[in-house]
Amino acid sequence: MTEPEFDTGLMWFRRDLRLDDNAALYQALQRCKRVFCLFVFDTAILDPLPRADRRVEFICESLAELDQDLRKATSAGAGGLLVWHGLATECVPAVAQRLKVQAVFAAHDDEPHSTARDNRVRGRLAELGVGLHTCKDHLVFERREVLTQAGQPYGVFTPYKNAWLARLEQKGLAIHDLKPLWPRLAALPLEVGADLPQNLQSGVPSLAQIGFEATNLAALKIQAGASGAHKLVQDFVDRLDHYHQTRDFPAVKGPSYLGMHLRFGTVSIRRLVHLAMARKLHGSQGASVWLNELVWREFYAAVLANFSHVATRAFKPACDAIQWEHGKLAESRFAAWCQGQTGYPLVDAAMAQINQTGYMHNRLRMVAGSFMVKDLGLDWRWGEAYFATHLNDFDLASNNGGWQWVASTGCDAQPWFRIFNPITQSTRFDAQGKFIRRYLPQLAKLSDKLIHAPWTAPAAELQKAGVVLGGNYPQPLVDHAVAREKTLARYGRMKGA
Ligand code: FAD
Repeated sequence: MTEPEFDTGLMWFRRDLRLDDNAALYQALQRCKRVFCLFVFDTAILDPLPRADRRVEFICESLAELDQDLRKATSAGAGGLLVWHGLATECVPAVAQRLKVQAVFAAHDDEPHSTARDNRVRGRLAELGVGLHTCKDHLVFERREVLTQAGQPYGVFTPYKNAWLARLEQKGLAIHDLKPLWPRLAALPLEVGADLPQNLQSGVPSLAQIGFEATNLAALKIQAGASGAHKLVQDFVDRLDHYHQTRDFPAVKGPSYLGMHLRFGTVSIRRLVHLAMARKLHGSQGASVWLNELVWREFYAAVLANFSHVATRAFKPACDAIQWEHGKLAESRFAAWCQGQTGYPLVDAAMAQINQTGYMHNRLRMVAGSFMVKDLGLDWRWGEAYFATHLNDFDLASNNGGWQWVASTGCDAQPWFRIFNPITQSTRFDAQGKFIRRYLPQLAKLSDKLIHAPWTAPAAELQKAGVVLGGNYPQPLVDHAVAREKTLARYGRMKGA
């Protein structure tokens, strides 16, 4: 153990809600004699959210576990989490002042709003003579760590991935062992007692106390916290070797479902990369393909960090000139897409999945996204915003990267003239209509052949299956062949297309 340079520090948890291999907490414990732990339910983030939001419930449950873990880690269980409900920009300096800390520690968060918040907090702390010390945690390589030979951020995935893998081999991937440092976790500041700043409490408030309602998280069997992540990893380990064969079929339990845990840091990315690398070295193709997906996550994070304009505009400036549909018809079509009422069963089942569960299979994110942009001609930012509100694993960088890929406006995106055919995608990836039947029970009795495009079914077949087009299931919103031509023309008008 090194001799600490500070007497008292404050660890500010954000998207790293675990003790295991927590880089910022490790720094705090190494550099301070005693460390208090804080989480802020930041009203700047919470206020615009719907009152029932799975992510808020997931955070509450994860914090309860984190609080327990902190208590177990401190002597006589005297430690734990301090929680504030209010503005982070006010709270962090106020708590730092009240607890008389000399340093605040947190993990990097490069989303534009987070960077702005951190700059404000840093400024206010500086006025108090307190430093804000941040470090990398939720990525293996971040910002400008992986660059081209010319020292520029990559704009294409495959060379980025190769450079990323080479850097990993060169640098290795150390896990932070926090256990020897547990004695430095501070007991909760009971001495402050009733004098705690308003809104600050020890222990985790209930959902109702922060103005939220319970969701169907429990019914969906989504388990929060580091223990929830651990169970998913255990479950996935047995499927990992087959990932490359199963991951594209939404009716199959192929992927890891770890997205939400990666988002809130209830699992360490370094542990997951170690797992994938170990299997890859033993020749597992599934592990190799899964590792690629983890690298896509890092790629998009680097794109957002280095090209911050992507948060609001196309990565490729020429694409900002694309004329999207607008007006009443466009808005009503967007509403139909959101509600899963497009008349294209795979798209509608995908939208039912996100609306009911907050998850959407990766293949379906591409299919539903492509349909919105290239069949309905709508601005990709509309879909991006809808996913941002509804996805449990919403992450600005990956969501933006995914939408710009679908819309062909982004970094290493799908070429604009490649347009997914929603029926072909359906027959290829849900051949027996299992996924469609799960989410659109009104179509369940259609044959495996007709379920992908009910409007092509003879009237007698529809009647036999109890399907009434325009009744219990919509007519197709657009004709794909016609929409495709319109899209080719729309993109073709782009300068340099
Ligand atoms: P797995 O297949 O088990 O993959 C493991 C992890 O790798 C994921 O949890 C995720 O962290 C990462 N990952 C996998 N695929 C990608 C990818 N294409 N890009 C970036 N990271 C990836 N992912 C998000 O985490 N948040 C989002 O908001 C998000 N929005 C998307 C929007 C669109 C339009 C598209 C096409 C993709 C989006 N993705 C997003 C990527 C991907 O669909 C999800 O990460 C994945 O479906 C999550 O399921 P999983 O955890 O079972 O993934």
